Amino acid sequence: MLSKRVDKMLKLRVKYPLAHKYGARLKGAINLASNESPFGPSPKTIEAIKSGIDRIGSYPDPSGIELKRAIAGYIGVDPECVALGNGSDELVDLVCKAFMDPGENVLIPLPTFSIYELACRINGGTPEFFELPNLEWRAAEFESAMKDARLTFIGRPNNPTGNGMSAEGLRELLKSGKLVVVDEAYVEFAGYSVAKDAARRENLLVLRTFSKAFGLAGLRVGYAIGSSELIEALEHVRAPFSVNSLAQVAAIAALRDRRYLRNVISMIRKGRTYLSRELSMLGLSPLPSDANFLMVDVTPLGTDAPALCEFLAKRGILIRDLSKFRGAGSSWVRVSVGSPEQNEKFVEVMKKFKRGG
Ligand code: PMP
Repeated sequence: MLSKRVDKMLKLRVKYPLAHKYGARLKGAINLASNESPFGPSPKTIEAIKSGIDRIGSYPDPSGIELKRAIAGYIGVDPECVALGNGSDELVDLVCKAFMDPGENVLIPLPTFSIYELACRINGGTPEFFELPNLEWRAAEFESAMKDARLTFIGRPNNPTGNGMSAEGLRELLKSGKLVVVDEAYVEFAGYSVAKDAARRENLLVLRTFSKAFGLAGLRVGYAIGSSELIEALEHVRAPFSVNSLAQVAAIAALRDRRYLRNVISMIRKGRTYLSRELSMLGLSPLPSDANFLMVDVTPLGTDAPALCEFLAKRGILIRDLSKFRGAGSSWVRVSVGSPEQNEKFVEVMKKFKRGG
């Protein structure tokens, strides 16, 4: 009964890694495992959601034109260069549907966000993995790995390493003529972007989300920026009502409240510096990160990722164990930047671990 590709996925047991743990999330725990914003959406956004409630008896605007205009203004492109999605997760899937045929290869750097592999497989493609040498983005090596691929996904900044390919490296890669999908989910924390360029390029597509800096992960709204031709292709394969009306209302309000956004970004950057310094003082070397999380090798603490995560979870703090993350391994964890109080609590428990519990 199953399609061959789904049968293969079941046999390989590839699925979104945290899925089975969501139900078991500790009640009241500090969640530093999902790279969400500890601050949530702005009060003005919450107000807009409340007043949007009376729209939910009708279908959402399938074109999402009002939100597209707001995003176009935020990025500095035309609304025709914007596609919406049910989170950027949906857009990753739509990219595979629109730009890859079954049996073709998708180049996936490692370690990276697992949805790229899942979407590729679900759509009948074959992931072609490229281990980042020394967890660094070397464009020349990446370019030669791209030879047999139809397209590639590049996190910029990348999850979980927190770093990204240089702008120059990206320009070189684009010369291949292959489709390069740059995932800018964490871009607000980084301050560098190629979203505006994407509207003018034939083979560059940028994905973004309202789940991170805007604090709207639960409403599921993401977007893509690209040439009007690429965007039209995405619109053709999208289910018309995939972005609900509250998500549209909320995202528009969130984009208006720039002061709140600036404040969130500033708090996260400060928190990132604090966590990085404190972890260094514990003898660790977190990777330099442009995002709202840090990837850390825990070996200097004389432990591994599962043991440390278990110790923290027992004390009400969840961080991400990267031992089953392709291309990472049992010495690596990823910790999201929380609120100042959450960060301090995390550091306190880490110190306790170092002292022997
Ligand atoms: N891209 C990256 C790199 C991510 O880490 C995540 C979420 N963890 C997403 C996309 C998904 O974002 P969304 O909530 O918009 O589906």
